[in-house]
Amino acid sequence: MVETSDNTTMYIIEGSKKAMLIDTGTKCEKLDEVIKQITQKPLLVMVTHIHPDHSGNIKYFDQIYMHPGDTVLMRMMKVEYNGKINYVKDGEKFDLGGTPLEVLFTPGHTPGSIVLLDRATGNCYTGDAFGSGLVWMQLQPHVSMGIYAESCRKMEVLMDKGITKIYCGHYPYVKKAFDKNYMTEMRQLAEELSKGTAPEGKPYPTKVGIGTQNPMITTKGSASIVYDPDHIN
Ligand SMILES: [Zn+2]
Repeated sequence: MVETSDNTTMYIIEGSKKAMLIDTGTKCEKLDEVIKQITQKPLLVMVTHIHPDHSGNIKYFDQIYMHPGDTVLMRMMKVEYNGKINYVKDGEKFDLGGTPLEVLFTPGHTPGSIVLLDRATGNCYTGDAFGSGLVWMQLQPHVSMGIYAESCRKMEVLMDKGITKIYCGHYPYVKKAFDKNYMTEMRQLAEELSKGTAPEGKPYPTKVGIGTQNPMITTKGSASIVYDPDHIN
């Protein structure tokens, strides 16, 4: 685990042949050299989504892997990247040598959000797909709450089939892996927001993001969702 000073988290998974860097943090001078101090194995660089606190240092790598769903976001944020972009798809597997990592497509926080499943250890690395205690759904381009609830449901099902620990993209805020209970509460809250039956939201002032926003926050148990009441479904 590598953390930046502003509480973003990158994960390095090492197999016997290759290693994968999951997310590239906000600002980190010469991140490629930092990673080489940790692993010398050939490195795959995977971004869970293209927000700048998860893909901030891609310029240090000559190729990255991402889901094509976030290319729209790349254009909106005018991300400049001269390296090669490899697009991943749902279910795609990456064998690092005894450690297969599998892509799960989980749109919601962004249109192209993915998580990485490690079925051998039961770990899952989720970026912001399921939040770090709270998930931001107010940002543009909006994904409907119903689609997000479906992403939560897919994850919930996997948590009955061997995935036990969720490692989020802002680990210092929570300092623990999330369990299935969190996933269930997140899915229920997304469904309730979609149907208009969620607990009443409170204003959540933030200026981060593109375009106009009217962010509100609502909570169920350990899960909170920040949403824009004008863009729920
Ligand atoms: Zn994000």
